[in-house]
Amino acid sequence: MFRASPFRLNMFELCPQQYKFTYIDHLDKEYKTPKPYLTMGAHVHNALHDFYQQLDVSDRTYENLEMILRRRWRENREGFANREDEAKWGVKALSMLRLFAHRMDTSVTPAMLEDYYDVEVSPQLKIIGRIDRADELEDGSLHVIDYKTGKFDPNDVNTLQLILYALIVSANQKKPVTKASYLYLPTWEWHTVEISQDEADEAVEIVKERVAEIEKEREFGPTPNKYCKNCDYLSICPAKQQIELMLQDEQA
Ligand code: SF4
Repeated sequence: MFRASPFRLNMFELCPQQYKFTYIDHLDKEYKTPKPYLTMGAHVHNALHDFYQQLDVSDRTYENLEMILRRRWRENREGFANREDEAKWGVKALSMLRLFAHRMDTSVTPAMLEDYYDVEVSPQLKIIGRIDRADELEDGSLHVIDYKTGKFDPNDVNTLQLILYALIVSANQKKPVTKASYLYLPTWEWHTVEISQDEADEAVEIVKERVAEIEKEREFGPTPNKYCKNCDYLSICPAKQQIELMLQDEQA
C-alpha cells in the first residue's frame, strides 16, 4: 500500500534525490536537523490545538493562548542559534497568536482538530494528511482550514493539497467539504478554494499519476532548487559542489 501525502508528493516533484534519501533510504532520522521556523511552527500549531481541545469557550482568551504557547515552548527549544534568536522566534509566535485571538471567532468549536487522517482510494493507495481543523458551515458542510506560520507567497500556494485535505476530511467525517483554506497567521490572509466533487475526483487521478511516476522512477537525481540551503541532505547530496557555488553566487 502506497501512503501518499501531499508533502511526500511535493518532495518528489521538487527533488527526486531528496525523496530517495527520505522515503527509500530512510535517512531522515539520521540527517534531520532542528530548524527554528519548524520548532516555532509546531508550537503555534500545538498551542492552537490545545486552545480548542482544553478550554471552554469562555476561557478562550489571548492570555490563556499565550500561557499554552509558553507551556508548549518549554517542551522543545531545539533549533535556535542562541537565546536571542529564540526570543525573536518567540515574539513572532506570540504576535500570530495575538492576531488569531482578536480576529478569529473563538466561540466556534471546530468539528475536527489537528491530527493525521487518511482515506483509501484504491486497494494499493491511501492518501494521508495532517489536518489542522475543519469547521461546520451553516448548511452543514465543512470548511477545512490549514494554518500557515510563514508569509503568504502566491508561488507556494498548493491547491491540490487543499483539495486532498478536503477529500480526507469528507471521508472521515462523512460530510461534504465545500471550502478549503490556507490561513496565513502572520498577516491574517486567507487563500480559499471552493471544492466540487469533480475537482476531488480529478485530484485523486493526479495523485495516482504521480504515484505511478514515482514507482517508475529509477534515477532519483538531484534537482538543485531554492530550498537546497535548508535541505538536511546537503552534506551528502551528489550536487553538493554545484549547490555550494550557487549559494556563494547568491551571497556575492
Ligand atoms: S540539497 Fe537540493 S538537490 Fe540535494 S537532495 Fe537536497 S534538495 Fe535535492
